[in-house]
Amino acid sequence: MKDSNFLKEMNARSVWHPMAHPADSQANPPTIVTGAQGVRITDVDGHEVVDGVGGLWNVNLGFSCQPIKDAIAAQLDRLPYYSIFRGTTNDAVIQLAEELRDFFEPDGLSRAFFTSGGSDSVETSLRLARQYHKIRGEAGRVKFMSLKKGYHGTHFGGASVNGNANFRTAYEPLLAGCHHIPAPYTYRNPFNETDPERLAQLCLSALEDEIAFQGANTIAAMIMEPVLGAGGVIPPHESFMPGVREICSQHGILLIADEVITAFGRTGSWSGSRHWGVQPDMMCTAKAITNGYFPFGAVMIADQVAEVFEGDETGRAAIGHGYTYSGHPVGAAAAIACLAETIRLDVPTNAAARGAQLHKGFKALMDKYDLIGDVRGGEGMMTAMELVSDRATKAPIDKGTIGAIQEATYRAGAMVRVSGPNIILSPPLILSEDEADTILTALDAGFASV
Ligand SMILES: *Cc1c(COP(=O)(O)O)cnc(C)c1O
Repeated sequence: MKDSNFLKEMNARSVWHPMAHPADSQANPPTIVTGAQGVRITDVDGHEVVDGVGGLWNVNLGFSCQPIKDAIAAQLDRLPYYSIFRGTTNDAVIQLAEELRDFFEPDGLSRAFFTSGGSDSVETSLRLARQYHKIRGEAGRVKFMSLKKGYHGTHFGGASVNGNANFRTAYEPLLAGCHHIPAPYTYRNPFNETDPERLAQLCLSALEDEIAFQGANTIAAMIMEPVLGAGGVIPPHESFMPGVREICSQHGILLIADEVITAFGRTGSWSGSRHWGVQPDMMCTAKAITNGYFPFGAVMIADQVAEVFEGDETGRAAIGHGYTYSGHPVGAAAAIACLAETIRLDVPTNAAARGAQLHKGFKALMDKYDLIGDVRGGEGMMTAMELVSDRATKAPIDKGTIGAIQEATYRAGAMVRVSGPNIILSPPLILSEDEADTILTALDAGFASV
């Protein structure tokens, strides 16, 4: 392997990074990860740390999941690629679709449209939502509703329903007809409401207001994450998603659950929708579907939506959408093996237990360090702390300080993710109690260092 400084220089010279200023990798060279085993990663300088990020919310089963690696290798030998555009399919994708149908049966989802990742899944769901209404003769239903603070990937459709200016401003104008309502974010909200249940009701009222203002018969779908992830881990009150479901049903608006993070166990339930007792009309999945080992995703579709497409006799239901890698046989083989391991290991049980441990650990750190203004999570293994420079005014922390905390935490043995003023944890769901403690101890050292 080339020497560390050489690699950093070449990286700065030739690689543009997502979600970073191109000039930044010169000033702050990123960690060069060269290996990973279990829940630990190693870098080019020889550090070995517990991965509190789980890759990017996706490596739920850790880095040493042999059945997935074997399935990928075997599929590459047998059939490395063939398209599933009209006219051909493959046996791996058929088997996976059948298994997903069983897995998502309690969510009322039975058909799968395959993609190459989360942004693709979001784009697919938005398109199918518009088409669904056109097939039914309601061509005027074209708008989308979503939550401020929501994250739905970075395609133009997804960026348009995203609720964070960082992913929008530089790329405007975005898709017309996308409208955002306040997120049930207790720590900061326009209502100054600190009670989660009352806040959920206020946000639901805002949704109803906006629907009335836009006209329900102009709206195709509402898209939301069951627990907001990249926006800073915002779990709503348990009444919120059922409330959204009810309002959408009343007004003929499809509910799209963006479960790119929450499907397959992260919330402590098999899906985020199931966690809240809701059946969506479509569900976007990706990330953990192959444990991060292959870029892949699926939009799961409910019976009542599928029947509209399948029963169409006008030709309007022909799907003019798809990706070269939709239904990739290697991705499908990886997903089949991943699903089997996910079920065999019963990952939601450990996600709930370790998630509670991390959440409790965050609360203890909050008692110790005034820089921590808010601690969120408690729904499985999604945990965040929001840092402030002043608890009373909630003034956000400066970038330098949070960066220094992250750096010191890394040196003390744990990779954590910084997103705006938040430190976010989304470790592999197979994390042990000791490994969770390692992350907490490293964070403690990180805070002590500033
Ligand atoms: C990560 C994410 C996406 C985008 O997925 P990509 O695979 O990065 O395209 C979409 N929605 C949610 C909720 C996500 O967390």
